[in-house]
Amino acid sequence: MKLKLIHIFTSVPLLMAAETDEFQSKRLEMVETQIIERGISCEATIEAMSEVPRHRFVSGRQVRAAYQDRPLPIGHGQTISQPYIVALMTELIRPSSDDTVLEIGTGSGYQAAVLSPITREVYTVEIIDELARTASGVLEEVGYDNVKVKSGDGYYGWEEHAPFDAIVVTAAAPYIPPPLLEQLKPGGRMVIPVGGVFQTQRLMLVTRDEEGEVQSRNILPVRFVPFTRKE
Ligand code: SAH
Repeated sequence: MKLKLIHIFTSVPLLMAAETDEFQSKRLEMVETQIIERGISCEATIEAMSEVPRHRFVSGRQVRAAYQDRPLPIGHGQTISQPYIVALMTELIRPSSDDTVLEIGTGSGYQAAVLSPITREVYTVEIIDELARTASGVLEEVGYDNVKVKSGDGYYGWEEHAPFDAIVVTAAAPYIPPPLLEQLKPGGRMVIPVGGVFQTQRLMLVTRDEEGEVQSRNILPVRFVPFTRKE
């Protein structure tokens, strides 16, 4: 009986460690080759990307591919962004532990999970009900307690929790939705892909200075799934 107990206590943690390690080495390799070597230097971003289990935000065959250098399908014609793009968007908003952040386009929940440990609160809106539900479940399971998910049209932001220190939009809109600009604090940063489905989209960094003046900067050409609207 005694032996059996010892066996249970020693084998369970070992098995768990083995599984974590397998993904951990893939994850650290991803951070090294796809993120640091490509010029991301924000420490908070690097730390979060080293820790967040990306494989938990995909399912089925995609689990093995989770740390590859590409976007992956998450169902409903949507995708989880390429790791580098998630890192770049995170770095661009200059995340800080006091920030309240709004994300539009929860998708898998991965970008929200990356923001979770390095900001105070993350509010994220997803237009496809089922994705919102699944993401909310995974975020809760993995323990990202400061993330709140809402199902709805992110065009309108999330008024009750506004204004935000930073806004991350992960679907390409033809123009910047005015309600999102209104919900950005003075000193706030917003990152958003702008452009139509068949056009080259540009990743824009939009900032509002302390006087309320808005400026935007073109960062790089990108390809995102479209920002859609509820009929
Ligand atoms: N940030 C996600 C990427 C998801 S892809 C991740 O880390 O996995 C973009 C998502 O934006 C899709 O899930 C799509 O359904 C959603 N989306 C598109 N238009 C939207 C809108 N108007 N409001 C909220 N979500 C929207």
